[in-house]
Amino acid sequence: MPRTIPGLHHVTAISGPPQANVDFYAGLLKQRLVKRTVNFDDPGTYHLYYGNQTGAPGTILTFFPFADAGPGRAGPGMASAYAYAVPKGGFDEWMLRLAEEVVDFAGPVDRFGQRVITLSDPDGAPVELVETDRESGDALDGFHSVTLWERDPGPTARLLTDIFGYEQVGHEAADGVERLRLAAPGDARGAVVDLIRSDAPSIGRQGTGTIHHVAFRAEDDAVQAEWREKLASAGHGVTPVFDRQYFNAIYFREPGGVLFEIATDPPGFAVDEDAAHLGEALKLPAKYEALRDRIEAVLPPLKVA
Ligand code: ZN
Repeated sequence: MPRTIPGLHHVTAISGPPQANVDFYAGLLKQRLVKRTVNFDDPGTYHLYYGNQTGAPGTILTFFPFADAGPGRAGPGMASAYAYAVPKGGFDEWMLRLAEEVVDFAGPVDRFGQRVITLSDPDGAPVELVETDRESGDALDGFHSVTLWERDPGPTARLLTDIFGYEQVGHEAADGVERLRLAAPGDARGAVVDLIRSDAPSIGRQGTGTIHHVAFRAEDDAVQAEWREKLASAGHGVTPVFDRQYFNAIYFREPGGVLFEIATDPPGFAVDEDAAHLGEALKLPAKYEALRDRIEAVLPPLKVA
């Protein structure tokens, strides 16, 4: 059987001030801050990683809180939303909890037979909660899906089906928005990608509250090398492998313009700190350790409730 991508590894977005980001994702949404490090290309900026207790692939949402980024806006050629999976039986509880915390949300609406609510994070990024039938306690169980906004979903859909091994599983149109659903075979977290086509004359702009890139999983370096080869021979300009400390990464632009990454599952977030204490201390790659004092001096303090 040909190899397939199991699902999302992580989603990376741009935020404003980091404390509000921590309060929202670690506080309200009860995600674990599994890594606090810096942007490896800009070490005066945090790189914050949220996930489940172990920081499993498919649960990871990461942020660059750029101090001087203006507000962005999603548009064609950008990822426009990420959705967390609400375990079976937990959906009403989440709506109640948000109401109690006086957090506004839109919906619920029905999407492919599942209830969906949408809330805004402190920078206006749309965070969707999707009712699923996964049996996994009451915490949000990593990602359900990501939504990509495409002028023409066709070429992106073909990349997902012909190369990644996804299947088209649904098609809906409502309020001028056409939504095509694709899913990886199997039941890994974040197996779903929705492609929307909208006639709105909107132009996207990268900035706070927008998604920077979407990363899919490779089981290990050898599998990642196979994906790299396959993408290159299909004419997708794919980068060399970057060492991202917690995974290895390759990047390419999908035909509609969204930046895609393929990231390896290993080594994971316990590679440089005890699994019981993930995210508590600032972790730096070796090349920045000598600059730790200076880096710590420019990063704002963070408090995880
Ligand atoms: Zn990434």
